[in-house]
Amino acid sequence: MSSLISPYCELKGEEILAGLRGIAVDPRDFVAYWVYLSTRDPFAVLVATLLSQHSTDRKALEVYRRLVQVVKNLSPASFLNCEEQELAEILRPAGLHRRKAELLRALAREVVDFDLKALGNLPTFEARRRLLKLPGVGPKTADVLLLHLGHPLFPVDTHIARITNRLSWAKGSRYEEIQKVWMELFSPKDYQEVHLRLIQWGREVCRARTPRCFTCFLRICCSFAKEEGRT
Ligand code: SF4
Repeated sequence: MSSLISPYCELKGEEILAGLRGIAVDPRDFVAYWVYLSTRDPFAVLVATLLSQHSTDRKALEVYRRLVQVVKNLSPASFLNCEEQELAEILRPAGLHRRKAELLRALAREVVDFDLKALGNLPTFEARRRLLKLPGVGPKTADVLLLHLGHPLFPVDTHIARITNRLSWAKGSRYEEIQKVWMELFSPKDYQEVHLRLIQWGREVCRARTPRCFTCFLRICCSFAKEEGRT
């Protein structure tokens, strides 16, 4: 458990984590996490994360399960043996299906001879640099996979970005500035749990349109809540 003192708020890391534990987390609502737990396969995690872009995790999981049935063993080679149009039809429920089919096949081509598991043994900077060169892989996707492979990185999604911006804890709204906040507040062993719980907090409490500040333990140190008179 982290006991780092926050430079942003009177709450310590462990108090923030205790607060976030106030709502339940279901692994099926986190497609990359669920896929990693079920397969331990880095390529499957990349596929799942790519499916979840511009979609919900539940929808992405539904499409992932369908993919497992149709694209046997879900390896890069099996994607290359699949017609792009057929793939796009399977991906349709997750949105942007043609673009995702194109990206998945481009990704499969790049990693067919690439040992993704070996990224776990490289220095974090180098592993991240290699991943970011792959089609469809941005900072969040790279960090999600690298965190699963044991690297001390904190992935930032739209919910985490919104919460951090409302709290005004980051120096700016760039990905790395937001990531730094949470990496300073917690020790690496807590990154996965805090990452998942913050996303759930953003879905249920710090919602985009209607934040429920009066039920949020963070309101004592939240700029948005103070400015809006919600403390
Ligand atoms: S107090 Fe409101 S705006 Fe601030 S983090 Fe909580 S829900 Fe979000």
